[in-house]
Amino acid sequence: MAPEAGSPGAPVGASGHAIASAEAHSAHNYHPLPVVVATAEGAWVTDVEGRRYLDMLAGYSALNFGHLNPRLIGAAKAQLDRVTLTSRAFHHDRFAEFCTRLAELCGMEMVLPMNTGAEAVETAVKTARKWGYRVKGVPDGRAKIIVAANNFHGRTTTVISFSTDPEARADFGPYTPGFEIVPYGDLTALEAAVTENTVAVLLEPIQGEAGVLVPPPEYLAGVRRVTRERNVLFIADEIQSGLGRTGRTFACDHEDVVPDMYVLGKALGGGVVPVSAVVSSREVLGVFRPGEHGSTFGGNPLACAVALEVIAMLRTGEYQRRAAELGERLHYELGLLVGGGAVEAVRGRGLWAGVDIAPSHGTGRQISERLMARGVLVKDTHASTIRLAPPLVIGEDDLEWGLDRLRAVLAD
Ligand SMILES: *Cc1c(COP(=O)(O)O)cnc(C)c1O
Repeated sequence: MAPEAGSPGAPVGASGHAIASAEAHSAHNYHPLPVVVATAEGAWVTDVEGRRYLDMLAGYSALNFGHLNPRLIGAAKAQLDRVTLTSRAFHHDRFAEFCTRLAELCGMEMVLPMNTGAEAVETAVKTARKWGYRVKGVPDGRAKIIVAANNFHGRTTTVISFSTDPEARADFGPYTPGFEIVPYGDLTALEAAVTENTVAVLLEPIQGEAGVLVPPPEYLAGVRRVTRERNVLFIADEIQSGLGRTGRTFACDHEDVVPDMYVLGKALGGGVVPVSAVVSSREVLGVFRPGEHGSTFGGNPLACAVALEVIAMLRTGEYQRRAAELGERLHYELGLLVGGGAVEAVRGRGLWAGVDIAPSHGTGRQISERLMARGVLVKDTHASTIRLAPPLVIGEDDLEWGLDRLRAVLAD
C-alpha cells in the first residue's frame, strides 16, 4: 500500500510500506512516531532504512538497562536452553531465588509475580481489599481505595475505572466502584478522604504519564504517616519510577519512605520479557490461599531468569548512581532552557524529565517529530509535554548529543 499521495513528509520506501500496513491491520489505539525500528543496541535504534536514532524514551522505562543489554540477553539465552514455562502448577528451579532476591531488594518478605504492570496493579487492588476484609475487619463489600487525580496505573477495566483521563475512560463503563479520587500532592485532602473502610492509598511516587510530576517535598512521608496512623496500606506504584530511574532503587527512597506494597513492572523484565510483581510483607501477601489469584505466565522460568539478572544488576548500585549523576547533568541543562521562550517548565528526578513546551513553539507531538527528524526519539504526553527517559546506560556524550538536538529543535 502506497503512502498517501500529497501528504508532506509521509514516510516512503520500506518505512512507509510498514507503516501503511500497520495502519490497515492493527487497531488504532496508538499514534506512533513514523519510525520503523529494525534493530537496536544500548541507547540506539536503527530503522528499516538504516537510519540511527538515540532512544530517549527507553520503552517508558522498560529499557532502563538499554537495548540488548549483554547480561540480560545472556541470561535469557541461557534460560531458553533449559526450560521456559511450567505454569505455577509445578515448581521450577528459578522461582524461589527470584522471589527471595526481589523481596530482599525491596526490603520486604513476599512476592506475587504477574506479567504486565496493569495486572500487578489489579493484584495490588485485590490484595488490599482482601487484607481489608480479613485483617483490618472492613465489612464485606465496603473496602475503599484512595487514588490520585491524573494517575496512570494501566488499562484494564478496573484500573481505568479510577482514571481521571477522559480518553482512557470514556465508553468503557460500567466502572468498578470502590475508589476515591483526591488531588495529587495534597496531603490534607488525602487525610480527609480516609474512613474506617479505607484499605489502601495507591499512588505513583512520581506521576509518569501525567508529565513526570514530582509531588511537593514531604508529601510521600506525610502519606506514610497518615496511612500508618489510620491502619491503611500505602501502595507505591513504582512500575515506571522504580528500579533505578530516579537515581535511587525506588522513587520512595528519596523521602526515606517504605510503603506497604511495591508494584513493579517495566524494567523488571529487562526489556526482554514482561515481568511484574507485587512485593509486600507476610501480613499482607499472606492473605492469599491456593486458587484465589493467579496467572498462567506469572513467575515463569524465563521471566525469573531475566528478572534475577535485573535484580543482580541493581544490587551493584551502579545504575542508580549513573541515573543520579547523568540526571543531575540532564536537569542542569534542561533548567537552562526554562525561561528562554520555548520551555515553560521542567520536572523530574534522575534520568527522567517532563519538559513543557511553550505552545508558540509547537505541540509535544510536533517537537517529537522534529526531534525524530534529527535522530532523537522521545514521546509527548498530553498536548504540550515531552518526556525524556533515556536508558540508564546512555553514554555521557550521547546524552549531550541528544540535548544538542533538543536545543536545536527548540531554536527552530
Ligand atoms: C506503564 C505503567 C503501568 C501499566 O503497565 P503495563 O505493563 O503497560 O500494563 C502502570 N503504572 C504505571 C505507573 C506505569 O507507568
